[in-house]
Amino acid sequence: MPPVATRNMDRRRFLSLTTAAAAAWPFANMSQSIAADRRVRMKDNPFSLGVASGDPLPDGVVLWTRLCPEPLTPNGGMPPEDVQVNWQVSTNEAMTQIVRKGMVTAPADWAHSVHVEVDGLESDRVYWYQFKHGTETSPVGRTRTAPREDVLLDQFRFAFASCQHYEDGYFNAYQKMSQEDLRLVIHLGDYIYEGASRKKNKTRPREHAGPRLAELQDFRIRHAQYKLDPHLQATHAAFPWLVTWDDHETENNYAGFIPQKGKTSIEAFPQLRANAYKAYYEHMPLRRTAVPQGPNMQLYRNVVFGQLVQFSVLDTRQYRSDQPCNDGIHSPCEEVFNPRSTMLGETQEAWLQQKLVSSSSQWNVLAQQVPIARINYHRPESTEELLISMDKWAGCDAARRRLMKFFDESRITNPVVLTGDVHSNWVNDLRLDYDDVNAPTIGTEFVGTSISSAGDGPRIPKDSAHVLSRNPAVKFYNRERGYVRCEVTPQQWRSDYQVVEIVSQPNQPCVTRASYVVENGRPGAVEG
Ligand code: FE
Ligand code: CA
Repeated sequence: MPPVATRNMDRRRFLSLTTAAAAAWPFANMSQSIAADRRVRMKDNPFSLGVASGDPLPDGVVLWTRLCPEPLTPNGGMPPEDVQVNWQVSTNEAMTQIVRKGMVTAPADWAHSVHVEVDGLESDRVYWYQFKHGTETSPVGRTRTAPREDVLLDQFRFAFASCQHYEDGYFNAYQKMSQEDLRLVIHLGDYIYEGASRKKNKTRPREHAGPRLAELQDFRIRHAQYKLDPHLQATHAAFPWLVTWDDHETENNYAGFIPQKGKTSIEAFPQLRANAYKAYYEHMPLRRTAVPQGPNMQLYRNVVFGQLVQFSVLDTRQYRSDQPCNDGIHSPCEEVFNPRSTMLGETQEAWLQQKLVSSSSQWNVLAQQVPIARINYHRPESTEELLISMDKWAGCDAARRRLMKFFDESRITNPVVLTGDVHSNWVNDLRLDYDDVNAPTIGTEFVGTSISSAGDGPRIPKDSAHVLSRNPAVKFYNRERGYVRCEVTPQQWRSDYQVVEIVSQPNQPCVTRASYVVENGRPGAVEG
């Protein structure tokens, strides 16, 4: 049972999210006169998908919403014209101390999504924000700016998550996360899944709307359906997010312009990718730098929290080499060792190196998708020496080695990698050479499990003993659902693995399963 103060705060937050219209709207006269001529008649509240904020800077943050009164219908129940939306930022939750406000166009071509890049705010400060169209108001969101670049915070708390297959389970993990005290949430991809709806059953409690995703309209409906989840919506409203994608926002295991084998044709894939990227931008609190151009979208970027922590948010899908050896889990074919293979593409790789070399942060974090540590999936009954997953960095051995060598030779301060994708929790030592048990540890990888993908999962996986004995660089391995909460100080990094045993039913508890720490200057995590 949380202390009384926390419960009151939670209750207030809950009320503000559900009865948003009660908030004052101090600039009503100005906004109504302009909004009146362009107001669109809607039978339901257009802010059904909630609000979000993201990519904080010391003086501002991105505010997001999308007007969508009928979320599961084509065009979201909106007319084919642009509409005007008012926004305001306040220093109190009651929205009575307004410090910034304005009006913005929600373009019909962009699904009436709204992206406001607010500036002129104070650094390292909590703000609340709200949107209005006509007489309809959005829920009130809470956000926080980053500290100034010369400030060394004494503590930074955030959480990271990935892989939220809507059909596989309830978002019980977000129910807990939305109640946490965090500065930031990071999403590492598989925010939506592209499959057609499948019938519900005992272990698959929810059902996708619509067909397998290919058309823009279907991507939009899928994003809207996910955003309707109350716990996902509450977590967006509670904290600023940093988002990046993996494969399922587009298509399983695609690589660059190469679609998944046996699904989309190579000719049709660029249009599908353009549709996927556009819908992703429309539904995320991203800056203008991420506006897609056809099938291209620049998502990789750097976000700095003063002198304490720098996040390099990566995109390991759009520019990567194709998975070698026909994808899947195999012993490595020759292509795995192709020196030209890449996970980031040349431009992003050079950008990353430049950002890391010029960083003055105590912790240098990669927020990215697939595991970097080489995991040997050798099974007891198999005679193979080494079995690796071709979709991961291990399948791009040259790229993996280049990154490890770079960490090492450039003496990057405290490199930490955050990873999603594999629907399981891992704590891994990052090494150049996994065949040499005495190879030095260069960095630390925290792999976070899925929010819901794969459904209810075991605390001790069947292959646990074998995986741990075969992979001395692995410190922790677990297959429950959940997320990872991190607490960073100048001296120590701490990751608390939050797990939910049951996602096949709603309202299930979330507990701390394990904690691992990294001490400043000593790569590799130990149980803490
Ligand atoms: Fe996934
Ligand atoms: Ca994935």
